[in-house]
Amino acid sequence: MKKLKSAILGATGMAGQQFIEALEGHSWFEITDLYASERSAGKKYKERVKVWHGPNPPSDEIWEKKVKLVDDIDLDAIDIVFSALPGSIARKYEEKCAKYKPVISTASAFRYDDDVPILIPETNIEHIKLIDVQRKNRGWDGFVVPGPNCTTVGLVMSLKPIYDAFGLEWVIMVSMQAISGAGYPGVPSYDIIANVIPYIENEESKVKKETLKILGKFQDGKIINANFKLDCKCNRVTSINGHMESIFIKTKDPCGLEDIKDVLQKYPGLDPNKYPTAITNPIIVTDDPYSPQPRVDVEKYGGMATIVGGLDETAFNGFKYTCLSHNTKRGAAKGEILVAEYLYKEGFI
Ligand code: NAP
Repeated sequence: MKKLKSAILGATGMAGQQFIEALEGHSWFEITDLYASERSAGKKYKERVKVWHGPNPPSDEIWEKKVKLVDDIDLDAIDIVFSALPGSIARKYEEKCAKYKPVISTASAFRYDDDVPILIPETNIEHIKLIDVQRKNRGWDGFVVPGPNCTTVGLVMSLKPIYDAFGLEWVIMVSMQAISGAGYPGVPSYDIIANVIPYIENEESKVKKETLKILGKFQDGKIINANFKLDCKCNRVTSINGHMESIFIKTKDPCGLEDIKDVLQKYPGLDPNKYPTAITNPIIVTDDPYSPQPRVDVEKYGGMATIVGGLDETAFNGFKYTCLSHNTKRGAAKGEILVAEYLYKEGFI
């Protein structure tokens, strides 16, 4: 496949760094331009990025590259935009780009628009049909496809096979979210070290809206939300990467523990021979009562798995489990690269 020239918006940030790690050496995409704010513009990447937040620092070519101001984006130079801008400013820039080019985003700016899919390729790929609706509605040559909030991903991935097989009456989720989820420099160290912060602004409403949208059905040009009851409580904890969640569910149809385990384990995912960032059977179920743990498990399976442990019955006729998902990989850059791979392979780009 022809290599697509890519721009990364927000390239100096936590998610931007993950885009660089995952795109360098990718056989379908090349990194053409790096964009960020006026704090970074005109500086070499290495002058601006002092701390690398992944195991594989970039090549000299990237370290030496000059970061450009996002207001000056040159759309003629690129084929695709990966956006990792803060949600508060992303809309303006993503809209400017999406008029002409495909924009794949980690930001929340467009997630709740009716003609915008929040895509997880393994989960709701039929929502891809909204891209045509979006282009028609807005008269754009390009389009915008955001991924979900990093806290939504593990929840949705683990609920999907259960919802399809047995339906859901209600779901309650309590999160323990890693520091990296707040970006860099993120939460002040004095606030978070040896502490738990029991509130993350706007997080709970995002998780609820997104989960019901992603698990909804595409019908007559729009998404009909899933209609089970859902609530959550989100906490910031001191792990570095990986959002962990305690999830309690009640299915609509009766089923046993082994049935739940079976549908989770057999969930097929996408073929990595077709889409390089995919993994087969992306839901890993562990019987070890001490698993999963962020420090031990989060980098396994390329950071693309949803790891489920502690699966058990509840005292009131439901089920409970723990779930771990990598927030900056599956929940941001690598998750969005998988979306881009799918769209490119299937002819949307
Ligand atoms: P971050 O570490 O704070 O990085 C923000 C990036 O945006 C930096 O490159 C920054 O550039 C740039 N930026 C900030 N203000 C700007 C402005 N006014 N104009 C142009 N560029 C500007 O944040 P992050 O964690 O990478 O998050 C980026 C996006 O991904 C957010 O929308 C976030 O919600 C989403 N997301 C993050 C995660 C995660 O786990 N961190 C997961 C899923 C989704 P400078 O260096 O020039 O300031």
